[in-house]
Amino acid sequence: MTVDTSAASSATPAPAGGSGRHRVAIIGSGFGGLWATEALAKAPVDITMISGTSHHLFQPLLYQVATGVLSEGEVAPATREVLKKQPNVMVLLGRVTDIDLAARTVTSLSPLGTTVTPYDSLIVAAGAGQSYFGNDHFSEFAPGMKSIDDALELRGRIFGSFELAELCTVPVDAEEWLTFVVVGAGPTGVEMAGQISELAHRTLRRDFRRIDTTKARIILLDAAPAVLGAFGDHLSNIARKQLESIGVEVQLNVKVVGVDNTGVDVIDPDGTHRRIRSRCKVWAAGVSASPLGKQLAEQSGGEVDRAGRVKVKEDLTLPGHPEVFVVGDMMALNNLPGVAQVAMQGGKYAAGQIAKRLRGEPSGQPFKYFDKGSMATISRFHAVCSIGNKIRLAGFTAWMMWLAVHVMYLIGFKNRLTTMLHWAVSFLFRGRSQRTTTRQQIVARTMMARLSATEEALNEARAAMESSQDGGPNGRGEAEEGPGTQTVEHEAGHDTVAELSTAYGSSAQGAGEPKADDRATEPTSGQSSGGGS
Ligand SMILES: Cc1cc2nc3c(=O)[nH]c(=O)nc-3n(C[C@H](O)[C@H](O)[C@H](O)COP(=O)(O)OP(=O)(O)OC[C@H]3O[C@@H](n4cnc5c(N)ncnc54)[C@H](O)[C@@H]3O)c2cc1C
Repeated sequence: MTVDTSAASSATPAPAGGSGRHRVAIIGSGFGGLWATEALAKAPVDITMISGTSHHLFQPLLYQVATGVLSEGEVAPATREVLKKQPNVMVLLGRVTDIDLAARTVTSLSPLGTTVTPYDSLIVAAGAGQSYFGNDHFSEFAPGMKSIDDALELRGRIFGSFELAELCTVPVDAEEWLTFVVVGAGPTGVEMAGQISELAHRTLRRDFRRIDTTKARIILLDAAPAVLGAFGDHLSNIARKQLESIGVEVQLNVKVVGVDNTGVDVIDPDGTHRRIRSRCKVWAAGVSASPLGKQLAEQSGGEVDRAGRVKVKEDLTLPGHPEVFVVGDMMALNNLPGVAQVAMQGGKYAAGQIAKRLRGEPSGQPFKYFDKGSMATISRFHAVCSIGNKIRLAGFTAWMMWLAVHVMYLIGFKNRLTTMLHWAVSFLFRGRSQRTTTRQQIVARTMMARLSATEEALNEARAAMESSQDGGPNGRGEAEEGPGTQTVEHEAGHDTVAELSTAYGSSAQGAGEPKADDRATEPTSGQSSGGGS
């Protein structure tokens, strides 16, 4: 079924607020997409927001979902609930597969079929996915940290490792379950390692009878020479010392060359190959922009950088396409880092430009990023914070600032309240409110990926068999449709697993993530940095 969301089509939902107004399509419900949408609340436009997930995700707190501090609802409220009081926006679930710059349409895929959304202005904010630097097969054994699925899977794996260690009768096996390896010493890796250490040393200390959880090894690896390199030498050294003081083993200049079910293979700075036996691995080492960036660059004659980010003009538009803005983790401009503030300010700026044009005011002023600083928590009561070139804070003051900033940017009063309650439980006492894990959350991603691969292979085999029996190119003796004339039609029950997994990114990669490719990508400065291989 093909759905057209233009007002002209009878089979389609009309754009919010009626027809005839300027149509803005926004791809993504993350920081860039949501901030752009909200900034257009009072503009005379009809907005269609298309996103691969039905929630807005506050990625900076994902690691707390993974380690049982917060629930997924607190960091990922439903987008349509957030926008329910904004009548000029229609929220559509779907994974955007095509942007046609010439026809000015966006095509998205859902389990029900294909949706085509026309636009007058387009804001693309599809973010970035995890990069395994061309080693996508690592993802089966070392999940990344980009989505709620990832965080829940990791929660299951982390708490599950302690459970399985308790069952081991051979000490060396227990040690394997009690060794946690985090690849990537950027903010995400540091925060994960710090939290796993707190779990082992505080939260779970009295819960087990056979194992001593304080004997768990938490290893933080990076190919780079520093922890939190983007924060400068001073804070980097403080962060490293603090991590070591809470029991994290920091191993730098170490290159990961293999990851499998029972361990990680690394090369030390002196060239020695070494294997770390570990059942629970976390990948926090690199990002790769949404593949939609490459599509935009190809159609506009533009360029992408090594991380797949689109090089945009100073006003965040695509070269030759003033109606198309690219914001957030997908855009490359003046080495701006892949952080939430760049996405929020970019989204607001793009919305402002559209509103200005509609009012007939001069537009095209260069985007000016206001750097509000970066921060990362290391452990309870300890964080580092860097503001501008001068202010460097570490310890309790930085941690209090971190708390305040994160509460401020969380969406919704209820979420702020419950988050503060859960923080009190975790930081003042030793409890974790969200320790529930299910087998489904641990195995679903890899099982779905395998199921999809099997289904694909079966379909190919079936097509080959039919073709050899009938002699026709498509098994029915009919001419195949040429590229570009293909209509995507989904019949009920057909390839359901493959559809669901591609639509929602439940396969080995997330919704916004690229398929396996050989492009060697570098982490963007700022977040999730620290190339692991
Ligand atoms: C674990 C982690 C911790 C972080 N910590 C911090 C921090 O402490 N401070 C900080 O400033 N930044 C942090 N960041 C970075 C920050 O979250 C990102 O820079 C920010 O989210 C980028 O916003 P965005 O709108 O560009 O993309 P995102 O927020 O990633 O949003 C992308 C949106 O696009 C949707 N999407 C993707 N592909 C498609 C598609 N094909 N079709 C339809 N929809 C699609 C997704 O579903 C999502 O809604 C962190 C990131 C991670 C992963």
